[in-house]
Amino acid sequence: MNMENAPKKNKKGALSRFASYYKPHMGLFMTDMACALFISAVDISYPLISRKALYDYLTPDAPKYAPFFILMAICFGMYLLRTLATFIVTYLGHTLGVNIEADMRRDVFSHLQKLGFSFYDKSRTGKLLSRCTNDLFDVTELAHHGPEDVFISIVTFLGAFVAMLFIEWRLALVLILTVPILMLFVMKLRTRMSRTSRKVKEGVAIINADIESSISGARVAKAFTNENYEIEKFEKGNSIFIKSKRRYYKTMGLFHAGMEFFTSIMGVLVLTVSGFLIMRGRMDQTTLIVFLLYVSSFTNPIRKLAAFSEQYAMGMAGFKRFTELLDTEPEIEDAPNAIELKEVKGEIDFNNVTFAYQTDDETPRNVLETISLHIKSGETVALVGPSGGGKTTLCHLLPRFYETVDGSITVDGNDIKSVTLASLRRNIGIVQQDVFLFAASIKDNIRYGRIDATDEEIVRAAIAAEIHDDIMRMPDGYDTVVGERGITLSGGQKQRVSIARIFLKNPPILILDEATSALDSATEARITAAFERLSKGRTTLVIAHRLSTVRNADKIAVIDERGIVEMGSHDELIALGGEYKKLHDAQNSFYLIK
Ligand code: ADP
Repeated sequence: MNMENAPKKNKKGALSRFASYYKPHMGLFMTDMACALFISAVDISYPLISRKALYDYLTPDAPKYAPFFILMAICFGMYLLRTLATFIVTYLGHTLGVNIEADMRRDVFSHLQKLGFSFYDKSRTGKLLSRCTNDLFDVTELAHHGPEDVFISIVTFLGAFVAMLFIEWRLALVLILTVPILMLFVMKLRTRMSRTSRKVKEGVAIINADIESSISGARVAKAFTNENYEIEKFEKGNSIFIKSKRRYYKTMGLFHAGMEFFTSIMGVLVLTVSGFLIMRGRMDQTTLIVFLLYVSSFTNPIRKLAAFSEQYAMGMAGFKRFTELLDTEPEIEDAPNAIELKEVKGEIDFNNVTFAYQTDDETPRNVLETISLHIKSGETVALVGPSGGGKTTLCHLLPRFYETVDGSITVDGNDIKSVTLASLRRNIGIVQQDVFLFAASIKDNIRYGRIDATDEEIVRAAIAAEIHDDIMRMPDGYDTVVGERGITLSGGQKQRVSIARIFLKNPPILILDEATSALDSATEARITAAFERLSKGRTTLVIAHRLSTVRNADKIAVIDERGIVEMGSHDELIALGGEYKKLHDAQNSFYLIK
């Protein structure tokens, strides 16, 4: 049932998926490649031009000044154009890479929006962040340099080889013989590098996740003076990072040293073989000079290809992590023939609902078992009971944040699995206990209830939610920026902001999760008033901790591990003398224990 975290079968290979990202940027890509081709052509032809100059014009007995300087002027012009081409390759090439990175990040970000609660329950924010940033950076580098490097290298390498064959085939053959050994070396280390590179990536992701978790928990750490513990915890991830990065650099060191060896040895080889041929009178010094010029056009591509292999290892590791995330299928999606839920009256039925959270255990424990609950349109039902009984879980099943394991839930007689998620959730407003505010202005935070709401509507919603006066007292009124997660607001204020959001959204069904924290009586009264105003004319499910809410409810359901154990009005349940009465009596003071 749970498909999340289970990558679907790849229809296409990683490479062809990678290539598909070039499609929208073909113009840019082709320009980049054309310039790259020009650069190779200049590199291949320069030694040939030098050779012509050396042989035909530079004879001391009959120097040909005019053609020589014309040729040199052409060379000058060629290098000017090559400079322009290099500029274009660097500029447009990187632009291409950035465009591809942006496309990939857009894909992964919109995919993250589709994934459901159970995915986020299991994922760590820092790791996800790492996948959307660091990993993609390597992919961009590969996207930009990869094709260009491979293309330039192959063209230059083949071009140089053909030119060398044409000039002095014996020497060319000696040089080409070293290539298979070089390639073998590159391939071997490349495999090792891609393995270690993946480990580095995992290390970075762990560190990011640790930092993210520590920063969000910084206040808790301080409260418990656990800063040192946090540092120790972090150090663990950090040392894993050092270890894997060191392993990577070791391979990289071997690789670079080996490459240096091969390239310098080629120069020596050319000198040795041609020296021998010259001494034998089979070759002249001019050919040696031309050949030495070619050695760099011959080794540069190999160097580039080697750099590419490194980049490929890094980029593909990043790309695989990217596709892994992209292939994680949302657990909850619209049924193929899902209908729009319209003109909702708000009649809700839970029919024998069974639910268990997906865990790594073999046999997940049922949090809810065969729960049935009928809620009439416009009714307020309070859910009370001990903490961990499943009240929140029950409420989360209605907007399909999680999927029921068995049984069904209907809204106005429509199974919630048969309607579109968007239309279902549009009709349900949730005020959560732990209100999340974005680090934006208070106005924008309220606007989150309905993105197209006007400023006037926002003020009206704030008045209804009893938060308007508080906002007016803030330094910039509605434009006051609340800190990250709304840190500058009090708990009661945050709840009222979230109530204002729901006033804007205006849904026929409400889910209220009252704050458990004790509020001063003035704030409490304001929230109760706002809640009452909000639930008027709406079907309301409320997870109640306050006596006032419970008393006003049409029905109270007492939920514990066994399920709904009692149901009725306040008076009925008190008269029954069961669990509710016990809860009620235990709470002589103001609040019902959660
Ligand atoms: P209540 O709202 O009545 O306090 P909850 O619905 O929050 O109870 O929790 C019911 C049970 O489900 C608890 O045992 C809790 O540990 C477990 N639970 C809650 N949320 C999750 C989750 N996201 N993943 C796994 N288990 C969960």
